[in-house]
Amino acid sequence: MEGSDDSSLVLRFGEASKLLPVTFVIFMVVVLYFEYIFLHCMRLFQLDLPVEFREAQVVARGWWHLISFHIITAFLIYCLAKCILTCPGTVPEGKGWDQRTDVEEDTTGAGDVELVEKKHTGERRFCKWCLKYKPDRCHHCRICNLCVLKMDHHCPWVYNCIGFRNHKYFFLLLVYAVFDLTLVNTTMFDTVWWSTRVDVSVAMMLGLFAGQSLAAFLWVLITAFLGFHIWLMSKAMSTVEFCEKSLKKSSYNSSMYSLGTYGNICAVLGPHPLLWLLPIAFPEGDALTWSSKTASSSTTLASSNSDQPRRRSREATPSQQDASSGGGRSARTRKGSTENATSAEQAQTTTGEPQAAG
Ligand SMILES: [Zn+2]
Ligand SMILES: [Zn+2]
Repeated sequence: MEGSDDSSLVLRFGEASKLLPVTFVIFMVVVLYFEYIFLHCMRLFQLDLPVEFREAQVVARGWWHLISFHIITAFLIYCLAKCILTCPGTVPEGKGWDQRTDVEEDTTGAGDVELVEKKHTGERRFCKWCLKYKPDRCHHCRICNLCVLKMDHHCPWVYNCIGFRNHKYFFLLLVYAVFDLTLVNTTMFDTVWWSTRVDVSVAMMLGLFAGQSLAAFLWVLITAFLGFHIWLMSKAMSTVEFCEKSLKKSSYNSSMYSLGTYGNICAVLGPHPLLWLLPIAFPEGDALTWSSKTASSSTTLASSNSDQPRRRSREATPSQQDASSGGGRSARTRKGSTENATSAEQAQTTTGEPQAAG
């Protein structure tokens, strides 16, 4: 697994032109960082005045802004790096998922998995590029040239697919970006206003206006995008599944992987609510099997859907457990059988993988 992860990283970074959006994101972060620290915070420190003439309250405000901004930005940069560098998770070699070894190992691997998403012929979904069978919620990304477990979307801004293993990093990247931009927008305007009333250079005034406008624009954009992802998370949908439902004009409340709002949040942000907003404690499971063994968090939902057909649970094979980042198992309940995965597969093959703006 690790070998294939490394080789996919080398392959990805071999194409320099595709790194332009990532470079642009990093450039934005650097510009806003320098504006906020060197134009705003430094002004509050009143370094041009002798110590005895500085207003203590204003200096304290400067420290508060400086420290808060650095803490949030450190988390943001960590999540950005993790989004770029973490393999989103792919189908393991052999053990029934690989067509080439399927005959010998079928009884211990994927052949034993009861899949929900199948072709219209009833056969298991198969990736002709990777020559592997696809687990439920797995899709092939033509840009990464990889089958991605619980694929959300391919994000050109981090030059990576967002899938099972880096979904929390991506979600928190949006959260920290909104936190950071909220701080900048609410505190830096004071400095922009100040620049219009004192004798500063035109370049500095324009720089402050440009920085403030950029921060406001990004805040609107990223807040809307985060809102969309919060909604998707609450409905247990990936962006790919959302696009499939849009194409089929089916209900957005009918995800067969839904565990109820709380369970759906845990499936993205991990099982500990106190750690949801920190880049630790990731969701349990291996993303290869989506079984119906009812978790404690989904008891209510499971009982309310007791008349619905359920998928049988099974233990993950050792290779699948290796592939898991959390090491545990996900417990999923199939909700509603009205949704036909066959048509989802048809939509997938005709439209290809959607590329969301994120
Ligand atoms: Zn593939
Ligand atoms: Zn991709």
